[in-house]
Amino acid sequence: MESLRFNAINHLSGLGKEILVEGNQKITGIFGENVFTLKTAREYLSDEAYKSLVASIKTGKKIDRTMGNHIGAGLRHWAEAKGVTHFTHWFQPLTGTTAEKHDSFFTLKGDGTPIEEFDGAALIQQEPDASSFPSGGLRATFEARGYTAWDPTSPIFIMNIGDANTLCIPTIFVSYTGESLDTKTPLLRSLEALNKAAVDVCNYFDKNITKVIATLGWEQEYFVVDAGLANARPDLVMTGRTVFGHSPAKGQQLEDHYFGSIPERIYAFMKDFEEEAYRLGIPLRTRHNEVAPAQFECAPIYEEANLAVDHNILLMDLMTRIARRHNLMALLHEKPFAGINGSGKHNNWSMSTDTGVNLLAPGKTPKTNLMFLTFFVNVIKAVDDYADLLRASIASESNDHRLGANEAPPAILSVFIGKYLNDVLTEIKTRVGDNFSEQDELLLKLDIHKNIPELLLDNTDRNRTSPFAFTGNKFEFRAVGSTANCGIPMTVLNGIVAKTLVNFKKEVDGLIEKGDKKEIAIMQVIREYIAGSEKVLFEGDGYSEEWHHEAERRGLPNVKTTPLALDAMITDSAKQLFDDLGIYRHAELEARHEIELEKYIKKVQIESRIMGELCTSHILPNAVKYQNILIENIKGLKDLGLPESAYANQLQILKKISEHIAAVADGVEKMIEARKVVNKIEDSRTKAIAYQSQVKDAFFTKIRYHVDKLELLVDDQYWLLPKYRELLFLR
Ligand code: ADP
Ligand code: MG
Repeated sequence: MESLRFNAINHLSGLGKEILVEGNQKITGIFGENVFTLKTAREYLSDEAYKSLVASIKTGKKIDRTMGNHIGAGLRHWAEAKGVTHFTHWFQPLTGTTAEKHDSFFTLKGDGTPIEEFDGAALIQQEPDASSFPSGGLRATFEARGYTAWDPTSPIFIMNIGDANTLCIPTIFVSYTGESLDTKTPLLRSLEALNKAAVDVCNYFDKNITKVIATLGWEQEYFVVDAGLANARPDLVMTGRTVFGHSPAKGQQLEDHYFGSIPERIYAFMKDFEEEAYRLGIPLRTRHNEVAPAQFECAPIYEEANLAVDHNILLMDLMTRIARRHNLMALLHEKPFAGINGSGKHNNWSMSTDTGVNLLAPGKTPKTNLMFLTFFVNVIKAVDDYADLLRASIASESNDHRLGANEAPPAILSVFIGKYLNDVLTEIKTRVGDNFSEQDELLLKLDIHKNIPELLLDNTDRNRTSPFAFTGNKFEFRAVGSTANCGIPMTVLNGIVAKTLVNFKKEVDGLIEKGDKKEIAIMQVIREYIAGSEKVLFEGDGYSEEWHHEAERRGLPNVKTTPLALDAMITDSAKQLFDDLGIYRHAELEARHEIELEKYIKKVQIESRIMGELCTSHILPNAVKYQNILIENIKGLKDLGLPESAYANQLQILKKISEHIAAVADGVEKMIEARKVVNKIEDSRTKAIAYQSQVKDAFFTKIRYHVDKLELLVDDQYWLLPKYRELLFLR
């Protein structure tokens, strides 16, 4: 039987032509087609129902059952016209992905008459039998009750899977005692906390501001490989990354892939998922090749953070499913291939007011400049004060492969702001002194708006290596992993900025009470914040070795592994912070900490098992086959009476192969033993650390080294696993 690998390679040349993507749809013609937008709602709902929906979206006002019935009926009419038969509450449990449980509109009346129905109760609240979702002990499994509740701030949409159309209702997922069992609930709470804190500070400058939202524009990096080839790699299928594979002769050194022309087969896939995304109202804007071969990126226009998070999760799901249509596999993992770039998900974040002002965009007048500076400096201080929490928010087993590795931002959180703004901050720090007379004058001199071109130039080019960079009118959090639900880092970022703003207001108010003029009080606190958080600012090469030393000297944390990074989630300061703001209760933090540790343990365990399995049933048997051929060959030559020089080469190869075989077999056996020991550990944190040091660090690289050597030595036809050059370059 031909191996999966060669089958896939043979099959490749015939692919790509048959998948035609029909015509070029005008985006505006299909955008939001499958979304229950307010415009659609206007069409399908009574005045009263429509008003109640709008009020709920704007003010968070609860929708009652009766009104829910009206909205449900309107929704069903709209959905049925689009061929929908089922609905689901769509939520984001702590697994990191999404969950759905489909129910049909179909039901039987008391007398047995079949009807289609979708009432307010079904719309507003459901009780999925969700006992198998991770709860970190928040909800004992015997009382599996957790319920999903409609989040009207994210619009309802229709998901199209094959022939089936499902009405999806974005919901939060909480336990009956009110603890959040998902990532959306705390995100919504953090947005509310930020709103409150930011509005309070905004009102120093403009009393008309009544609402501040966080905005998020993510950039999603991913790899795409041929599905036939990928399916012949059990490691890719099971873990999303290749645990073995020798680097190809050509990697990314020529940098010829970056921004190059998009391969046709991939292009068809992109067009296809983009089109689906547009129908779902995901405003994709950019697509391009990334640095590594077979790596790509897409990015939307930014949106309100809650919606942006939903859209990112939806898009990841779309990409995964639609890739299959094209016989491709989309790899969202942070590090699918060793030795070439990994994938991140840059989170571009800012705050925007209901008066239409981006709070992180330098203003047009000295007064708005001061507002900009206030928020700008508060964010910097927040990152400095809570760097450990931000680090924890992006910690995952898969992101560990990236953070701290050479091409990714390091695990040290520093902020890049560019030379121009650095100079501005330095000027404030040195010139705003105890002598306030100069301050008004200084303020007028900070003509940031006149220097915006300079500022933009400064902030778009020279910051590629910073994990948290100011890019002209927003901060870009770059250390987020490509598989992450960005709701988690966004919750933390909103939270720490909210907390910082709350304190800022207290300090400013304190000075005003003492008789300071408002502007002077503000400048004074800004100056204090600049001086206090300078150490987090870094303009140099974040990937360099020197930075690691420098960061250590500055006392910046550099936690390289997940089990330790997660500690920050349950410190007293974290508990206090999130409790004060109403984002996470203590128990919710403890639960998440536990769940993330468990996730880490399981992921390393699965990778370790796959490694063992591949070695035992793929790599070793085939290496032995080739070993036997060499033995036969050597024996034959010997039998012919030839001198040793005639088969010295073969002997040499045989010796090497035998050594690598022994090392692999030995490594796998010892790794299994190590797992057995580690599995006995009760405490999750100790166990996660043990998995990291005694399983992952102790064996993964070592076993891989010998397997990759074998890949080079063993006759190509015996090698069952598609090689890097095939996965990365054949399509
Ligand atoms: P790049 O980072 O590649 O230079 P852009 O600056 O154009 O690209 O934007 C990257 C992402 O930042 C996009 O998703 C964009 O929508 C988003 N973005 C732009 N302005 C904001 C903002 N005020 N808030 C949040 N995201 C923003
Ligand atoms: Mg970017």
